[in-house]
Amino acid sequence: MSRDLRDSILRWYLANRRRLPWRETRDPYAIWVSEVMLQQTRVETVVAYYERFLRTFPTVRALAKARESDVLASWSGLGYYRRARNLHAAAQLVAREHAGRLPQDPPTLRALPGIGEYTAAAIASVAFGRAAAAVDGNVIRVLSRIHGLRGTRTSLRLRRAVLERAERMAQGPRPGDWTQALMELGATVCLPREPLCGRCPASRRCAARRAGTPDRYPEPAAAVKPRAGRRLLLLARDGRRVFLVTDPDDSHATWTLPYASLDAHRPARAARALSRRYWDTDYQPEGPRAIFRHRTFSHDWTYEVWSLSVGLAGFSEARGRPPERAARAASAAQAGSAVWVGERRVHRLPVRAHTLKALKRAWK
Ligand code: SF4
Repeated sequence: MSRDLRDSILRWYLANRRRLPWRETRDPYAIWVSEVMLQQTRVETVVAYYERFLRTFPTVRALAKARESDVLASWSGLGYYRRARNLHAAAQLVAREHAGRLPQDPPTLRALPGIGEYTAAAIASVAFGRAAAAVDGNVIRVLSRIHGLRGTRTSLRLRRAVLERAERMAQGPRPGDWTQALMELGATVCLPREPLCGRCPASRRCAARRAGTPDRYPEPAAAVKPRAGRRLLLLARDGRRVFLVTDPDDSHATWTLPYASLDAHRPARAARALSRRYWDTDYQPEGPRAIFRHRTFSHDWTYEVWSLSVGLAGFSEARGRPPERAARAASAAQAGSAVWVGERRVHRLPVRAHTLKALKRAWK
């Protein structure tokens, strides 16, 4: 049964696959970059970033030699910057310890920063034609439905049962295409809700379809409720330029508008405290100019944007020193960095998503 099923899914994939740039290459490095970008990011978003990143860093060695700030700038807008930092560190390891060639077997791949079990199996099968089972949420959904395997999406029991079947099915011709076929089926047909069973190459053999309840596989895991929180963002402007600082919550690796928690302070007070921290003036920030929500995996933030106009003239009158020098002095004291940037340059920096949202409102 498994062999027939595998053949049907593979044939369907070869006839229906989407044309994606990483499917047009055999270069292991390019495939690796695509797999890392596709972690936590949608295919449609990744395409443009993938092409730009490979134009900037066409080889492992080019990436290994790059400055981290340039790698992060090339990743700007894609989010989850830890992926870019790990990719960069892994490229340096590959250049140093593997003569610039990506290892082929999953255990050695897994030893590289940012490569977990799934990514190692995906690279080994797609780039090197190894029979390796890449199991992620998509594959768990597809195989739990086809085989009628019960359990919550995150349960170890279900994962083990899926892995056992996935490993068996990974044996056979075209291992790379097989890995992508399962992914493609999960992404375009066997959708989390309302799967398109009428278009599915596995429909005749699918236990969940026969039972008439595909949506119930896998069972939903108990939802983790993100914590609510309130923060103020200070939008300091000098004409069209805005003031950004490196984010201490992200080891100063990304840029953000200065922010403060509103849990313990009133907004006006928090805004004044931020203003004094960076400029040592009694300027009065105004706000809120905008209020918006921004959800992350762990938090449901409400952001208030307060603004402050800090043109050179104003500063000369108030303190006799330009804002850049003052800001640099203040930020140096906090072991971070600060910059005044215009709209164009913002998009070349790794900037936090909440700040991009605030700036979009300010610049529109
Ligand atoms: S028949 Fe439906 S539920 Fe079963 S694998 Fe195909 S799309 Fe998913």
